[in-house]
Amino acid sequence: MSPSPTRVLVLNSGSSSVKYQLLDMRDSSRLAVGLVERIGEQTSRLKHTCLGSGDTREAVGPIADHEAALKAVAEELGRDGLGLDSPELAAIGHRVVHGGMFFTEPTVIDDAVLAEIERLIPVAPLHNPANLTGIRTAQALRPDLPQVAVFDTAFHTTMPESAARYAIDPRIADRYRIRRYGFHGTSHAYVSRATARLLGKTPEEVNVIVLHLGNGASASAVQGGRCVDTSMGLTPLEGLVMGTRSGDLDPAVIFHLARVGGMSMDEIDTLLNKRSGLFGLCGDNDMREIRRRIDEGDAAAQLAFDIYVHRLKKYIGAYCAVLGRVDAVAFTAGVGENAAPVREAAVAGLEGLGLAVDPGLNAVRGDEPRLISPAGARVAVAVVPTDEELEIATQTYALVGTGSAPVGNNS
Ligand code: AMP
Repeated sequence: MSPSPTRVLVLNSGSSSVKYQLLDMRDSSRLAVGLVERIGEQTSRLKHTCLGSGDTREAVGPIADHEAALKAVAEELGRDGLGLDSPELAAIGHRVVHGGMFFTEPTVIDDAVLAEIERLIPVAPLHNPANLTGIRTAQALRPDLPQVAVFDTAFHTTMPESAARYAIDPRIADRYRIRRYGFHGTSHAYVSRATARLLGKTPEEVNVIVLHLGNGASASAVQGGRCVDTSMGLTPLEGLVMGTRSGDLDPAVIFHLARVGGMSMDEIDTLLNKRSGLFGLCGDNDMREIRRRIDEGDAAAQLAFDIYVHRLKKYIGAYCAVLGRVDAVAFTAGVGENAAPVREAAVAGLEGLGLAVDPGLNAVRGDEPRLISPAGARVAVAVVPTDEELEIATQTYALVGTGSAPVGNNS
């Protein structure tokens, strides 16, 4: 009898990119990682690394669409003896951005699931179509293999109605499916559990504020392992100041820009999603560059940093109030894991809430979860590197490994 397959391929299909990782779930090790960028352009780029040999290959040239991109990925994996036709491949796990209220758990994909992801396109017009293309292409390559959707929204479906509902006429909200869904859920789930582990506790025993600060950024309040509030809303635009997104603003700004500024809805959408946040404020969305400019005395970069940190601090305070008792605040993603000045500034002055950062610990760099609060602090402040691919692979493997793969809504 051949041994049961233990590998999971994780695919994260964006509008013009595909990121992938192949993991062996016996020890959660990476076998290969890679990225296809600028799909549909003349200068598409595929970068593939085989972790076993340490080989990295890079190719630049036209890759017309997602189908061609996945075929190129399959070819690269094949060259390393890790091809999609391998009997050791157990499943493909797909990141799907929007699962609405329907998908509360990872789900084995069938036609009904595809139809529901499609039905959610109006609330995720940028993301769900790309995710669907990735799934359909992978299905065509390996029709016999289980494909699992892991939803960015699923972790947030436990929010109470008081946090998830906007204060508008519920008949209108329900008709257009308007509510707070939240995103980055895979990361919030992974980091809140890893933070509990760091404290030597179970997720059920702790209340954690997770600050996922990447190019997109979101905060969540996690009570005993369940999300009770999060900063992103109907779309990823709400909440924290981000790389290029404004986060919270008075909704009347939009009416004002339309009526007084004569801007179209598409122009306002682009302004708030692509030309705002740190980039809109100072022309840079990379925190490294902003810190460099601040060191040179650049006033616009300093103001952008201050606005970013002020918003972050407001959410920390708000989620202290939502949770009542906070055991830990965890920083994660590109900025959260790497930018010590952001962590220091976000917590500065919050001693009254039991929050403080030890400057020496905060300056230490590393890949492991670690505490940066002073010894004996009432609230632990931690840096907890996120690993969305591992979380997707773990959830995928748990589903296909048990043989009890549910389809559709499991709630
Ligand atoms: P992510 O979306 O999680 O990949 O995060 C990307 C962002 O992380 C970049 O836009 C940078 O602003 C930020 N970042 C990455 N490395 C560093 C670093 N060493 N210091 C400060 N910010 C960083």
